[in-house]
Amino acid sequence: MAVVGVLALQGSFNEHIAALRRLGVKGVEIRKPEQLRTVTSLIIPGGESTTMAKLAEYHNLFPALREFVKLGKPVWGTCAGLIFLANKAIGQKTGGQDLVGGLDCTVHRNFFGSQIQSFEAELSVPQLASQEGGPETFRGVFIRAPAILEAGPEVQVLADYPVSSDRLLSFDSPTGDKTENAEEESKVIVAVRQGNILGTAFHPELTADTRWHSYFVKMSTEAGEEATLSSLVPAQV
Ligand code: GLN
Repeated sequence: MAVVGVLALQGSFNEHIAALRRLGVKGVEIRKPEQLRTVTSLIIPGGESTTMAKLAEYHNLFPALREFVKLGKPVWGTCAGLIFLANKAIGQKTGGQDLVGGLDCTVHRNFFGSQIQSFEAELSVPQLASQEGGPETFRGVFIRAPAILEAGPEVQVLADYPVSSDRLLSFDSPTGDKTENAEEESKVIVAVRQGNILGTAFHPELTADTRWHSYFVKMSTEAGEEATLSSLVPAQV
């Protein structure tokens, strides 16, 4: 049975633990580096990524978090958690913050604006339908939400969201020049998977729909089984 840890420094960690509980899975609160050794996988919740980074630094968590990701253990970042896992974050107000990294993406921290620009949207997520046999749409809750503007070749896009091309131009072109296509619709990425890393720009833990949590628990169970198997099979000489 997989043991799922939830980084409990700040943000919506209680909501993640409650969502896991609804699936019959116990979420373990993680606040110290050594606690990471006790879990199969980890959820990094939404909240405020600068504050979370300061707390993670205070608790000396960054080296252990990076190691956890490098070991291939499943990690899911929601919103601020997604920012934490990106290799690069832009749109920072005060000169940057430490990131855990591992996800080959550039994330804009506040792409969708401030608190009052928060919104809900129906997203098409074929991967969830194939997991559960249910509908392929998911109602995403976006709160001061980030978006992924660039993703490397190993990143699988699980959901995107339409925006006007105009909105993306300032990031594409250093001069922010408008082109004739400015009125056209473009897309930003809002959910991804890269091997052991899952990232969502929205907050599944704030909905009653537990399909994303089921998806992650499945990733965790598979990783747990693999770890058990490799400890049983003697190493080849
Ligand atoms: N944009 C926020 C940040 O920079 C994240 C918002 C959230 O997690 N709801 O941390």
